[in-house]
Amino acid sequence: MSEEQLKYGGLCNQCHTNHLLPVMPVLPEARRLIQKLETSRSIQPDDPDFSTDILFGKARGQMFGLMLALDVQGGSRILKAFSGQFNGHYRAKGWVPPIFNVDEFQRINTPGEKQIKALSKRILTTSDPAEQRLLKEARRNQSRRLMKQIHNLYILENFRGERQPMSAFFSKDKGMPTGAGDCCAPKLIHYAITHNLSPIGLGEFYFGLENRSGSKQHGQFYAPCTSGCAPILGFMLCGLVK
Ligand SMILES: [Zn+2]
Ligand SMILES: [Zn+2]
Repeated sequence: MSEEQLKYGGLCNQCHTNHLLPVMPVLPEARRLIQKLETSRSIQPDDPDFSTDILFGKARGQMFGLMLALDVQGGSRILKAFSGQFNGHYRAKGWVPPIFNVDEFQRINTPGEKQIKALSKRILTTSDPAEQRLLKEARRNQSRRLMKQIHNLYILENFRGERQPMSAFFSKDKGMPTGAGDCCAPKLIHYAITHNLSPIGLGEFYFGLENRSGSKQHGQFYAPCTSGCAPILGFMLCGLVK
């Protein structure tokens, strides 16, 4: 599929149709953003933590997204997002935040990670195999609990004003794939919903050193991911009147 034909969205389980946002309306602006990032080599030039140089090193590249939306007065707004974290940061100036509340995430994640680290340390220092087994089980349970608490922070909304926990869109036994809800498309759509904006177009592009499998190249646009995004985007876009 050519870049111009890309669409972002998915099957809506209520309307039984696909709700889709085309890339076309954002392509020129997104290409300008790619050029701007190439020139400034930063996503937030006032802070060295946000240099894009890391995307050309060991960490390799990252997905970025851009949305064109209309506010209630009909004025156009450009929204930008990066997938997941940028160099360990969930927030950067001028970029939309994650779906979940970052402060709440840190309140849960920081002590949870500390406990897991402490268990790991004890596993390394004990020589009794029986005790080691118990500690490993405790660590497994603890990280499962933490994962569940974090996943519970992801509450999806749509343009009808409905809310659903993100876990409802994934099979109970397989669980949620890593990074579900952290891609640019869900971040941007969620931001639009919660700020009374009507999206017109959306695009996701890859920036940086090509990924290990070679499936993603610098400056190219890609369809939404099938594992994390396809199951949720249809619901999120439901009720959008264009
Ligand atoms: Zn995705
Ligand atoms: Zn629908």
